[in-house]
Formats: sequence, structure tokens, C-alpha cells
Amino acid sequence: LIDVDHISKSFEDLHVLKDVTLKIKPKEVVVIIGPSGSGKSTLLRCMNGLETPTSGTVYFDGIALNSEDNLNKVRTEVGMVFQRFNLFPHMTVIKNIMLAPMKVRKVSKEEAYARGMKLLEKVGLKDKANAMPSQLSGGQQQRVAIARALAMKPKALLFDEPTSALDPEMVHDVLDIMKEVAMEGMTMVVVTHEMGFAKEVGTRVLFVDHGTILEEGTPEEVFDHTREERTKNFLSKVL
Ligand code: ATP
Ligand code: MG
Repeated sequence: LIDVDHISKSFEDLHVLKDVTLKIKPKEVVVIIGPSGSGKSTLLRCMNGLETPTSGTVYFDGIALNSEDNLNKVRTEVGMVFQRFNLFPHMTVIKNIMLAPMKVRKVSKEEAYARGMKLLEKVGLKDKANAMPSQLSGGQQQRVAIARALAMKPKALLFDEPTSALDPEMVHDVLDIMKEVAMEGMTMVVVTHEMGFAKEVGTRVLFVDHGTILEEGTPEEVFDHTREERTKNFLSKVL
């Protein structure tokens, strides 16, 4: 579904990604781990066209992310959830969720509302439909952000450290919802430091270091039979 073909990315003379190749199949849950500054977010952002690689190409569902037209097609198919909740602050929760399906997918208001309420029920926040984002806790906002991404019926969801800005007691609720979404067969790429989630939900774990995928495998391979010294060193700090 996502085909990252020999991409490199530089910012001026800083080489952030170095010849990264990666194929993600439908329904995979790929967890990306690695030290700060190693290029995890940049890799994720290249997958939905928020960043353009300096060389190489990313294909989403066979479409090369190399023209504005193609990017516009693909962006509606890939949802993204960020570390900082990026809800529209001046809109109620339900309006946040209804907006993109109505604008982009031309879904009727009634249908967008019905779908939105169903998604809010799924994330346990039906009673917050008419609240403003600022009235919600961080964890609740993040659950709304997931519902909003799902409202577009994306083919894949990308998560960039979705729980790392949350108070510890909120983390669990958000991870539970992500797990549920994964179980339903969503293709997911998740940058996270939550190793429990990686082990339990991940179908594949990538360890990114200095702009390359240094090690990859099943969670068992990467966590219990770690090959690379640098991976071992990283895991000893986060586990
Ligand atoms: P973290 O775990 O801290 O989120 P990361 O692995 O996600 O780190 P990236 O955000 O991908 O790392 O950044 C990799 C490197 O690229 C960093 O040194 C960062 O400063 C640099 N970088 C990222 N975006 C830009 C940009 N738009 N302009 C210049 N440098 C950038
Ligand atoms: Mg990052």
C-alpha cells in the first residue's frame, strides 16, 4: 500500500534520511522507534507528502507522490494524528469531525453527522459532541483527532507520537483506541515510544537511527532477539 522507494531527505547539508526503502502492505501495523532526531517524523511526513524527499519516490496505492495532483489525491486517503492535538479550536468536536468528509468527500451534512456521532461513540466521547476542544483533556482531544481521521475512511493512518504529550493516565485510553482500529484491519504506521503497544499490536517494528532503518523485524525479533548493538543500547534506555 505504501512503497517508499530509495528516498533521501536533506535540509541544507543535514542528511536526515539516507536511502530508505520500505514497503507497507495493507493491514500491517508498522511501529517506528528510534532516538530523537533520527528522522522518524520526517519519514512519516514523506509518506503522506507533507515533506518531499530530496531523491527517491514514495508511492501510495501505486500513485507516486511527485505532483500536486497526485498529492491531493493521496492526502484524502491517508489520515494523520500528531503529537499535539490539531483540532480546530473554534469548532465543536462534532464539527471538527464533520468538516473534511463534507468538504472533501462531499458527504451530506446528515450523513457526516451520523458518521461523526458513531465515531464519537467508538472513542467513548459521544457526550462531548458539542464541547469545544479546549474543554477536553489532552487524551480526549487525541481521541477526537483519531475519530476525525477515521471519518475520512482513510486507507492508512499515520501516527506521530500520539501519546507522548499526554498525562500518563490518558495514554492508555488512546492506545486502546489505536489497538481497536488496528484490529479492524486499518493499515497503520506508528511512531511511538510505547513499547508495550509495539509488542502487542505491531506486526513489524523498525528501528530508525541516523536516517536509516538499522534493524527491522517482528516485535519478537527486534525486542527479544535484538541484532544490532545500537538497537540494544536504545532499548535499554526506553524499556
Ligand atoms: P523526535 O524523536 O525528536 O521527534 P525524529 O526522529 O522524529 O525526532 P525528525 O523530526 O525527523 O526526527 O528530524 C530529524 C532531523 O531533521 C533533526 O535533526 C531535525 O532538526 C531536522 N529537521 C526536521 N525537519 C526540519 C526542517 N523542516 N528544517 C530543517 N531541519 C529539520
Ligand atoms: Mg519526531
